[in-house]
Amino acid sequence: MKTIGLLGGMSWESTALYYEIINKEVQKRLGSLHSAKVAMYSVDFEEIERLQHSGDWDKLGKILAEYAQNIKSAGADFLVICTNTMHKVAPQIESVADIPIVHIADATAKELIKDGIKKVGLLGTAFTMEQDFYKSRLQEKFNLEVLTPAREDRELVHKVIYDELCLGNCKDSSKQEYLRVIDDLAKRGAEGIILGCTEIGLLVKQNDTKVKLYDTTAIHAKAAVDYALQK
Ligand code: GLU
Repeated sequence: MKTIGLLGGMSWESTALYYEIINKEVQKRLGSLHSAKVAMYSVDFEEIERLQHSGDWDKLGKILAEYAQNIKSAGADFLVICTNTMHKVAPQIESVADIPIVHIADATAKELIKDGIKKVGLLGTAFTMEQDFYKSRLQEKFNLEVLTPAREDRELVHKVIYDELCLGNCKDSSKQEYLRVIDDLAKRGAEGIILGCTEIGLLVKQNDTKVKLYDTTAIHAKAAVDYALQK
């Protein structure tokens, strides 16, 4: 079994889910007392969030690349960046730390394609919904059509992530708003919705809606286990 490197803490609320899903999945697949080999570095998210909102992606890339090097030194064979947003600097991390990355958008796109989905709605931080690093990858590498909410709803989705979900705060009023946004995207033709922020699964569950949801946290964690157990 390969050692999984987790670059986490963005936020720790979702990294805790990664750790749990990965271990449960290894136990399910290998049985008995098996659990995952994991090397983790968990950041102080306040420092990261400030740099994100001031647009200093270059510095963020350098910081995360240094943490990735620590994870590699701790024995990781490959890296899982436990956030959609910070995949913006994945190329920088990969080249500096010289460690393979299991990319969250690739893992998610493969699930969508398996289900025959061509047009998908994307929820996440404003960075993920509005910038090119994520949407373009889905469009150009996987030929998916990607819909995002209208501006006001993108702001709402973004604000709930940073002001509530990253603090472990799940309000019913926010859940109703998210469900409304999901319905709107479905009405515009989305055949499924990417929960493209690793905390959204804390708020909205598949049971809450008939629209098919793709939770990037669960998908990415399972893709990490696939890679770790590959011969
Ligand atoms: N965990 C979130 C994501 O998947 C947002 C926090 C962050 O900005 O990293 O994008």
